[in-house]
Amino acid sequence: MKHLTSILARNHAPVTPQSEPIRGTAPNSAGGFSFPVDNWTRFRRFLILGSEGGSYYASQRALTTQNLTAIFACLDENGARVVREIVEISVAGRAPKNDAALFALAIAASCDNDATRKLALDALPQVARTGTHLFHFAAFVDAQRGWGRGLRAAIARWYGEKSGRDLAFQLLKYQARDGWSHRDLLRLCHAKAASETQNIAFGWATRGWPSVGEAPHPNPDLVQIWAFERIKRAQSEVEAANLIRDYELPREAVPTQFLTSVSVWEALLERMPLGATVRNLATMTKIGLLTPKSDATQTVLAALRDENRVRRARLHPIAILSALRTYVGGHGVRGNATWMPVGAISDALDGAFYAAFGGVEATGKRFLLALDVSGSMDCGAVAGVPGLSPRAASAAMALVTNAVEDDVQIVGFTSAVSGFGGLWGGGTSGLTPIGLSRKTRLDHAVKTVSRLPMGGTDCALPMTWALENREKFDVFVVYTDSETWAGRIHPVQALRQYREKTGIAAKLVVVGMVSNGFSIADPNDAGMLDVVGFDTATPQLMSEFALGAV
Ligand code: CA
Repeated sequence: MKHLTSILARNHAPVTPQSEPIRGTAPNSAGGFSFPVDNWTRFRRFLILGSEGGSYYASQRALTTQNLTAIFACLDENGARVVREIVEISVAGRAPKNDAALFALAIAASCDNDATRKLALDALPQVARTGTHLFHFAAFVDAQRGWGRGLRAAIARWYGEKSGRDLAFQLLKYQARDGWSHRDLLRLCHAKAASETQNIAFGWATRGWPSVGEAPHPNPDLVQIWAFERIKRAQSEVEAANLIRDYELPREAVPTQFLTSVSVWEALLERMPLGATVRNLATMTKIGLLTPKSDATQTVLAALRDENRVRRARLHPIAILSALRTYVGGHGVRGNATWMPVGAISDALDGAFYAAFGGVEATGKRFLLALDVSGSMDCGAVAGVPGLSPRAASAAMALVTNAVEDDVQIVGFTSAVSGFGGLWGGGTSGLTPIGLSRKTRLDHAVKTVSRLPMGGTDCALPMTWALENREKFDVFVVYTDSETWAGRIHPVQALRQYREKTGIAAKLVVVGMVSNGFSIADPNDAGMLDVVGFDTATPQLMSEFALGAV
């Protein structure tokens, strides 16, 4: 590091240790100083990353409270924009989970502003697209406000605007969640049936049908409910499989005793949506439907390799990554179920992960993808996925850019911690090249990064290292929680020195991996950008930013 010190000493650009503030910064949670992000950025981070599992510095509850404060501030500023952003991110499937959008919508639907409240309630069917979503919303909104007329009318509209067939499907597929059921909600909102079909469907959800005969229900919109009642009484796998085939019953409608049957799953797979297919790969392998040679495996492979289908299904990359890690593991998170993963399926999941981000434009720029592998990044679980820490998830995110761009270096960085003689593993401050290539499958990448030694946090390291080693980069991408504290120079100062010394108008992209309120990017520098990790829009935003003029 001597060489670097002499470079810094010759330079006139300011050098401030991260333990002292520079203009625009505020104390972060780690004892250093970072830029506070504005409320809208924080709101977006929350919509994408949620606050599930908390972070290294904040419990889930504390993190939710902090994010709530940001939502309130945004609502005060522009309620219509809050609702617009919720709808935009939810409808495009940009977030790993829809929960944060439903939570924020419940907050907007409970605020003081009449116009905002109405906009939020009008947007309910767009954001709550399934029965489960509706129950989540009900639980969130119930904690915020009373069941006034506007809210009851919005819930009634949710049911009333559905076509007969869609209504029947929602009623039978998701009957109850979070302590709420369709029976509760239909009674609470006094939904008035607009047709005889709705009348019979509502009656079934609230009271059940008095009798279910052998002959299919004469109304084609309601015949699926009839089949659902019949499968509960089915005597054999064959009977169950026939009902599934003939009436397109989903897995949720199948009684437990049939869920170990190959012929039942074979029938389910014929019309299974891609998301359900991905979630049930382990089960279908365990019971013996998916084997290296089976036709069912070919069906699954064709679906996973169909990029358009992956995108249309709005299957989130995190859902695919999570499924891949479980699948290759060969055993469930809970219980003692085991299976022998089919290699081709693991590989197809890996491919589907990239497809789920959609087309990303290559820029031809020189990238340094720098993963903050410090201790704090090892805490918490991205989108509540067990074992998927922010630092492990950042490896998957880096591979997305690596898959598109030709000139990429991937490194992990962490600082030595005084008193421990370097990293916990006994090294020194700095960067470690991470052996990730386009051939690396995601589960290996995540494992590789999870095993790196950890230390303190110095987010200036990527820039100081590049300057010291005369490495040329157009774009520094730092995947971090921005809780930087251990460096002798602020990251933005290091970037400005790099620009001055090399003559390269290098840019900095900060990929926020935790929904906290900090960034190492200076909001007043047009050459720096804040994006959110695992927003499916992030790779394209980065690409546009890398190409754009400053
Ligand atoms: Ca850290």
